[in-house]
Amino acid sequence: RKAKALSAPPADAGPPNTANPHAAAPRFDRRAALAQFSARTRLDMKQVFLSPAYIVLLGLGFANAMAGLWSQVDLGLYGGAMHPVTRSLIPILEGNFSLIPIVIAIYYGGELVWRERERRTHEIVDAAPVPDWAFVAPKIMAIALVLLSTLAISVLAAVAIQIGHGYFRLELGKYLLWYILPLGYEWVLLAVLSVFAQTISPHKFIGWGLMVLYIVATTTLGNLGFEHHLYLFGTAPGVRLSDLNGQGRFWIGAWWFRLYWGAFAVMLAVLSHLLWRRGAETRLRPRLRRAPYRLVGSAGLILGGAAAVFVASGVFIFINTNVWNGYRSKIDDEKWLAAYERVLLPFEKTPQPKIVSVKLDVDIRPKAPSLETHGLYVIENRTAQPLREVHLRFDRDLEVEALQVEGAWPKQSFERFNYRIFAFDAPMRPGERRTIAFTTVRAQKGFKNRDNDTRVVGNGTFVNDIEITPGLGMSRDGLLKDRAKRRKYGLPPDLRPAKLGDPAAVQFNYLRHDSDFVTADITVSTDADQTPIAPGDKVSDRTEGGRRTARFVTEAPIIHFFSIQSARYAERKERYKNVDLTVFYHPTHSWNVERMVAAMKASLDYFQVEFSPFQFRSLRFLEFPGYANFAQSFAGTIPWSENLGFVADFRDPEKIDYVTYVGAHEVAHQWWAHQMVGADEQGATALSETLAQYSALMVMRRLHGEPMIRKFLKYELDNYLRARGGDVVEELPLIRVEDQPYIHYQKGSLVMYRLADQIGEAAVNRALRRMLAEHAFKGAPYPTAADLVAALRAEAPADKQALITDLFEKITIYDVKARQPKATKRADGRYDVSFQVEAKKIYAGGKGEETAAPLDEVIEIGAFTAEPGKRGFDASKVLTVEPRRLRTGVQTVTLVTAAPPAFVGVDPYNTLIDRNGDDNLVKVN
Ligand SMILES: [Zn+2]
Repeated sequence: RKAKALSAPPADAGPPNTANPHAAAPRFDRRAALAQFSARTRLDMKQVFLSPAYIVLLGLGFANAMAGLWSQVDLGLYGGAMHPVTRSLIPILEGNFSLIPIVIAIYYGGELVWRERERRTHEIVDAAPVPDWAFVAPKIMAIALVLLSTLAISVLAAVAIQIGHGYFRLELGKYLLWYILPLGYEWVLLAVLSVFAQTISPHKFIGWGLMVLYIVATTTLGNLGFEHHLYLFGTAPGVRLSDLNGQGRFWIGAWWFRLYWGAFAVMLAVLSHLLWRRGAETRLRPRLRRAPYRLVGSAGLILGGAAAVFVASGVFIFINTNVWNGYRSKIDDEKWLAAYERVLLPFEKTPQPKIVSVKLDVDIRPKAPSLETHGLYVIENRTAQPLREVHLRFDRDLEVEALQVEGAWPKQSFERFNYRIFAFDAPMRPGERRTIAFTTVRAQKGFKNRDNDTRVVGNGTFVNDIEITPGLGMSRDGLLKDRAKRRKYGLPPDLRPAKLGDPAAVQFNYLRHDSDFVTADITVSTDADQTPIAPGDKVSDRTEGGRRTARFVTEAPIIHFFSIQSARYAERKERYKNVDLTVFYHPTHSWNVERMVAAMKASLDYFQVEFSPFQFRSLRFLEFPGYANFAQSFAGTIPWSENLGFVADFRDPEKIDYVTYVGAHEVAHQWWAHQMVGADEQGATALSETLAQYSALMVMRRLHGEPMIRKFLKYELDNYLRARGGDVVEELPLIRVEDQPYIHYQKGSLVMYRLADQIGEAAVNRALRRMLAEHAFKGAPYPTAADLVAALRAEAPADKQALITDLFEKITIYDVKARQPKATKRADGRYDVSFQVEAKKIYAGGKGEETAAPLDEVIEIGAFTAEPGKRGFDASKVLTVEPRRLRTGVQTVTLVTAAPPAFVGVDPYNTLIDRNGDDNLVKVN
């Protein structure tokens, strides 16, 4: 198509020199030009496709991609496998093939443009009666075809991997639309740029230099905050992929940019034609002087048309990215956050009323997409003083269409931060209640330069309440965390929570300061083909006029932390012990739905018996697009990312069942956060995340037995040890954890499991029941991690109190290892087994400083016929496991076994937080 478009009139086609007088009369017509074009294309392509460099590059890319693709399926949590869905492979391809096309385009741009000159055949070739475009276009074509062949081969690699993993859904349409078309297009642009750079350069190496300069400039400018795709040649905003939502509307903006840069590339191609080097003349200036005269005719028309498209699309893009949506670079966003904190954080301690009930009317328009919310809060002054002001904080891009605070007037508005202060006409007395009514719209008009909204989308809308409704007072949520960045903007290095035991902090839970437990009444409407969901018991659900509207009313007080969702879902429903269980999933992702239902049931069975009754009438898992990678527990409603569990592959039964783990963990949050929630001070997440980890482990053990838990805990141990070395602030004991995931998740699992092992699961659960009895569904004052530890101490015998101190109040690290094993057969046919155990215990400080601690504890030793924790290990491989009192230093231990052991060791199942969990076992020869 490009070749035709570039066809030039005969007037322009004549060579600069006279034709060879010995040849037959030369022809300058279009047919001859096309014949020349195709001959030259074949020649140029042959040079590229048959060159060793191309084969080497392609081989490299292929090998690289295969390695990346093959391991992709093993990137599930805890070593779990995933089905190789096309959506998850495309980013790997893009990553592995990002450099190769650039190298190909740059390298072959030089090689092809300069070939005749380097072989000193240019004077002959250039003298041929061929128009300039018939030189330019074949070179661009050849490079483009090489690049496209690279793409095609990478798709073959991905499909081969899919088939190799037994995945036979050949999603060729997705490869085409999500990968080949957009990338192929961008790579052709690169080929044009490369040929142009060589055309205007006096030497091949200068052309290459120009291209390298372009690559370096593109990356550096981005890092300096110059991110607009309007001036970064050939770039476009990234398109997020999801099986639920496809390319969403993200492709629209991306293709407008591609149109814009495509028009620019056509201009470059015409310029290459105009400035083409012919004969002996290599200087640029004479060619530049000559160029305008050659614009007459098609070349001029094409150049003019392309320029018009370039300008018009550029204007339209600018309207989208800079007028309808504010253009912001990443640096702009950081500056905004820093200013937000500087201006508003001083309000953090300004006393505010609390929200006690929430009524929302949420109108989702998936096709727009947009989301409009009408809301009504009832607020109450729960402080002891009269309140003069209420502060309202809205999400940055949320449009506030209406806002009324009963008996108050708008006193001050921080437009830049979407933050408003209302003053009460008469101060709000302690215990007094008033209302706040508001209307907000969350919608993105057109497209942005980056970060298009992924929350309100065509299929798979998922917003939480703070994204659509106001919070009261200032909050630390979302403030800058990175220390280097904080320093750069003159902020204090860290924002640390209140210390454990701070009496002021127990007035607030750690999720939000502006509410205790609330009641909610949420109506959600969406398009008729989608399912609207919000927390609460569904009391009505009707479809009329193409809209489906459902109303959800909470059956128990809930934490003010809601999600609203809407998508075209398949549903798996079951009523179980008076609870409606539902998994809402994307129809092609049914692999683990039964496993999820089983996890719900096992969780309810354990938690209801061991902790307290479940407080809701329904329990829902809902899939949402993979724009984020988490699962999150809202009241009775648990959204999961499509990347997390829905595509997990459990054909290998040895894999850790992380779907059940995640499911049980999130269901456990219905107790540990939604019934009892921690005060906003150190240790808060030990009451939610650590207890959810413990609960999930107990469910997993019931379903899968001890060996899988051991494997799981080994991951926890390794991840904890790795992460503690990287903590830039300070490692803290579990009781004072400051929202540090490696402590409240990984160490939390290890601590709780060892505790249950030592004082008994029943004793731990008695303590947890007591915590719930005292604190569930009550507002301030909130419980702390110190309350939890006290409850555990109350259930533990005297000789385990020191253990509780070690586990919760200190950073305790063991180092035990086994060596020099011996096994000798006895007269009675059994075996005397002995080995040395080297053991020590240390206490660590927050910065890694260590002090030796005396070790004198009962620790297990054992002998096995296979290695614990490894493939194939099960209970039948255990010869004996016995407790032994071990002390600091080297000691010899002995066992008697019925059969010859293959492995012996100390703490064989890694119940200790051991610096090196891999040297606990030793092979017996
Ligand atoms: Zn959690």
